Amino acid sequence: MQKTAIITGVTGQDGSYLSKLLLNKGYKVIGITRESSTIPCLNHQFLKIEEKIDIRKLDLLKLNDVISLLEEIKPDEVYNLAAQSSVGLSFDEPIMTLEFNIFSTINLLEAIRKTNKDIRMYQASSSEMFGQISEEKLPLKESTIFHPVSPYAISKASSHWTAVNYRESYGLFVSCGILFNHESVLRRSNFVSKKILSTAIKISKGEADHINLGNLDVFRDWGYAPDYVEAMWLMLQHNSPDDFLICSGEANSLKDFVHITFESLGLDPEEFIRIDQSLLRPVDLKIIYGTNHKAREVLGWEYDRSFKELVDKLLEEEKSIS
Ligand code: NAP
Repeated sequence: MQKTAIITGVTGQDGSYLSKLLLNKGYKVIGITRESSTIPCLNHQFLKIEEKIDIRKLDLLKLNDVISLLEEIKPDEVYNLAAQSSVGLSFDEPIMTLEFNIFSTINLLEAIRKTNKDIRMYQASSSEMFGQISEEKLPLKESTIFHPVSPYAISKASSHWTAVNYRESYGLFVSCGILFNHESVLRRSNFVSKKILSTAIKISKGEADHINLGNLDVFRDWGYAPDYVEAMWLMLQHNSPDDFLICSGEANSLKDFVHITFESLGLDPEEFIRIDQSLLRPVDLKIIYGTNHKAREVLGWEYDRSFKELVDKLLEEEKSIS
């Protein structure tokens, strides 16, 4: 029988790739977007899926509306991807970030508890929840303790523990994917990976003469978004709910990201980088990376891209739209 999935945050990077994945698997996809969003969505047009998704405008902060949606749609699976997802913006907009990210998650959990406890839910947790980590705790695991250091990370940690609480208290099938940075051509322009790729291409065409960046000495665990959404789906097909780290397993510096990108375009990065003090964050994590052992063993998820392959792929994709 055809399965039905609701995806919140459907217009975003992950919502778009996940929609495509589920449509290819024969799902009926209902996508949730805010009243203020522009539809049709450019990401969906890019992936050629805009006519295949049933888009609904809904305020996830209104519990009764969320309950009505579940009663009408009767989904098998709900993927909760909607969020104010930028760490940087969360320092400027802490109240909106905390309010939206936490209460939208609680409302979905409450709505499932009240309407149909058999609905399976995926919660988009984040590696940012780990926050201030001493290097001897690396690689991060599912059991590593959180110490969030931004309003965004606090909102995600709070949503994560609420999801775990509903799993343990009410027996809901809620799985949390603790995803590390994952990128693609659909990444929002306010994220640093997108800024590096698009500005480097502009510089190579003579359309820009420099790039402003913050701290380049941060090491992150980067992956490719279309591969990571596959893990979300696998989590909801497993026979029991759980938490999984989804990551590449290696740390690379932002400086290396910049160097690979610029050098692939035949540019010397040192000529074009300007360090902008206003882009430094109040607190920044020096290095984080995780282990994806559990996701590989339990879910059979596979990820074998090297960092260089990832940056090359992102650059090729960015060139194709520039
Ligand atoms: P994204 O591109 O920013 O998409 C998130 C979507 O959430 C937006 O398209 C937006 O859709 C919706 N949204 C609802 N309320 C919002 C608000 N107040 N401000 C901004 N957007 C709002 O994020 P993504 O990269 O696809 O990530 C999906 C989820 O995974 C998010 O929850 C994110 O926090 C989490 N995550 C992402 C990463 C990553 O590296 N990408 C890593 C770990 C976790 P509408 O405007 O249509 O409503």
